[in-house]
Formats: sequence, C-alpha cells, structure tokens
Amino acid sequence: MGHADIFLNRTERPARIPALGFTGKGLIAMQIYPVKVGMMQCNCYLMLSEQKNAAVIDPGGQPDKLIEMAKELGATIRMVLITHAHFDHIGGMEALCRETGANLYMTHEEADMLRHPGMYEKRYLQKGVLDESLLTQELREGDVLTLDELTIEVIGCPGHSPMGAAYRVGDTLFTGDTLFAGTVGRTDLEGGDWDALMGSLRKLCDLPGDYRVLPGHSGETTLERERKYNPYVKQAYAGRQ
Ligand SMILES: [Zn+2]
Ligand SMILES: [Zn+2]
Repeated sequence: MGHADIFLNRTERPARIPALGFTGKGLIAMQIYPVKVGMMQCNCYLMLSEQKNAAVIDPGGQPDKLIEMAKELGATIRMVLITHAHFDHIGGMEALCRETGANLYMTHEEADMLRHPGMYEKRYLQKGVLDESLLTQELREGDVLTLDELTIEVIGCPGHSPMGAAYRVGDTLFTGDTLFAGTVGRTDLEGGDWDALMGSLRKLCDLPGDYRVLPGHSGETTLERERKYNPYVKQAYAGRQ
C-alpha cells in the first residue's frame, strides 16, 4: 500500500489501516484511521476499540474534522493521547477534549514544557499554558492504559523533545516525531538532545519482532524496514555491536 493510499482527503471515506491487537481473547483486528490535520498536516490517528470507543493520537488541529470523522465511524472519542507537546501535535487538543470530554494523556515532561513554555512554545502556542483541568494523567515510561480490549503501553522517547511517548498497541507503534520512514525528528528545538534521540531509536528497535510504525509525519513504515534502511538507526547502533 503506497503512502498516498492511506491518508485522507477531507471528502474521502475514512480509510482503515489493517492492524492486529492482542487482547484477552487473542488476536483481534484493530481499527486505526489516519487523518492529516492542522497547518503542518501532522498525522493524527483515530484508534477504535471493538465497542467503537476511540483514542485520538495527536490532534494537531481541526478538532471539528476529528469529531466529524468519529461520528461517521459511529465512534465515541474517549481518550486523547499526545506523543509530544509540539504545537503541530496538540493544536486541536484542548478544543477536542472540551467538546468530547475525552481523557487527556501526555508525559510529565511534555506537560511541564507547556507549563513553562520556552521561546519555541511561546512563539507557536501563543499562550502555552496548559489547562490542567483537562489533563487526566501524566504518563511515565512503562505506564499501561486500556481502551476496552486494547492495551496501550507507553515507551518514553526523549530526544526530539524532552520526553516524547511512543505508544505500543498490539502490532502497532505510534512513534510521533521520534522515528519516521527513513529518517528521524529534529533535535534543534528546545529540549532536543541528539544522544537521547539515538537512545530512543535503540529502545524502539530493540523491541523484539516487527511492528507497523505510524509516525507523526509522512508515510507509515515498519520497524524492520527502519532497522534495515534508516541511516539514523544504523548510526544509533554504530560502535555498539
Ligand atoms: Zn515535534
Ligand atoms: Zn511534528
């Protein structure tokens, strides 16, 4: 499936990404729908449980579009999961949480970035102050959230930002701006750290087996493909084997 196939135009019916989730009942087919939102066209994802409760990963903008999409799918938005607090991933977060009453999750460090905005956040978020009443839980490495039968595991990924989260669900990894198809996120913004990013790449690539990788920008990939061909992943392991 080409990259162009899986991303939506506003007029198209939501396209489902085939994925598998592990549950108490064994393997089930997960429903994940990608959608590009906001000025930067960040990849946002709607992930549905069997009962059609939805988690939205990185609502970077256009909350109305996401609400409309959920409605079309017959889904109820229950959770909002943030990979990291850059404006292109959280632009629609507050409005979406207010509108739907969904629980909001991000790591402690990313929430802190919003509490103490530096130049970057001030410039792009304008206000940069987190509405604490919307934040359900500050996540830490290894935390596990559940959405009905789906288990969502938090993998701490510092480097692109103070503590980005990758979310592992079944055979799928949502990697935010840590790992992209063939490349990685920049580390020149506030809180960025190249060595930390290299460590995060190793942490992801050390996961046993293969995963479908759904990143914050550009097309989807697989962990195995990135292990083989991503020059930054090779760099992360250079001198360590
Ligand atoms: Zn970012
Ligand atoms: Zn981004």
